[in-house]
Amino acid sequence: MRRIIIAIDGYAATGKSTTARGVAEALDYLHIDSGAMYRAVAWYLWEQGIRKLQAEKLPEWLASFSLHLEREGKEMMVYVGDRRLEEELRRPEISAFASEVSAVLWVRQRLIAEQRRLGQHGGVVMDGRDIGTVVFPHAELKVFMCADIEARVQRRYQELLARGIPADPEAIRHQLLERDQRDENRPISPLRKAPDARVLDTTHLTIPQQIETVVNWAKELIYAPASF
Ligand code: C5P
Repeated sequence: MRRIIIAIDGYAATGKSTTARGVAEALDYLHIDSGAMYRAVAWYLWEQGIRKLQAEKLPEWLASFSLHLEREGKEMMVYVGDRRLEEELRRPEISAFASEVSAVLWVRQRLIAEQRRLGQHGGVVMDGRDIGTVVFPHAELKVFMCADIEARVQRRYQELLARGIPADPEAIRHQLLERDQRDENRPISPLRKAPDARVLDTTHLTIPQQIETVVNWAKELIYAPASF
């Protein structure tokens, strides 16, 4: 059976990672959350006390940075050195800093090379901002996720509360809009829908419905008769 590449891109808090994880589970594929890789770089810099990014200093600041992803079941867990990162990556200040860090070409080139290596054999669901446009422009299935801002604020608010991270809906709205704006307007790899991506508006969908929609699209491709 064909093991395809599924690229899921879209705005923050539309449910990309949760959907990608569920789709990977249903198809027995590997899930790679590319955002967590950018967050890991941001977290490392933050831990060094760096608050203001200077692109020309990044090679020096990241000289001892070592990121590796380790497979745990269907997930790839993120390690920086020997520290396993999970909740730390979800903090609002790390979200905002990740978006700044990800606008730097030097960082993107390195992470994209790693993402391509991880997905090269197919059987992978990767979510992010540029997976269908830059990382895997030939992915068999591309999905672009969006949702109304209100639905996204509520989703992120509930998610942070569930993780025990204090949250305020107004601050979340501001952060999401600011991050979208930065991601859409950066000169390198801006957040864009690939022309051949299918749009999934999750405003009125439950998580199981989101997953089912993408799984059905994937199955159409996986079981399609080969064309010559
Ligand atoms: O997807 P997530 O919200 O975890 O991503 C955090 C930040 O990392 C995004 O706001 C974006 O700036 C950046 N990112 C990116 N390209 C990706 C994935 C994430 O630029 N493929």
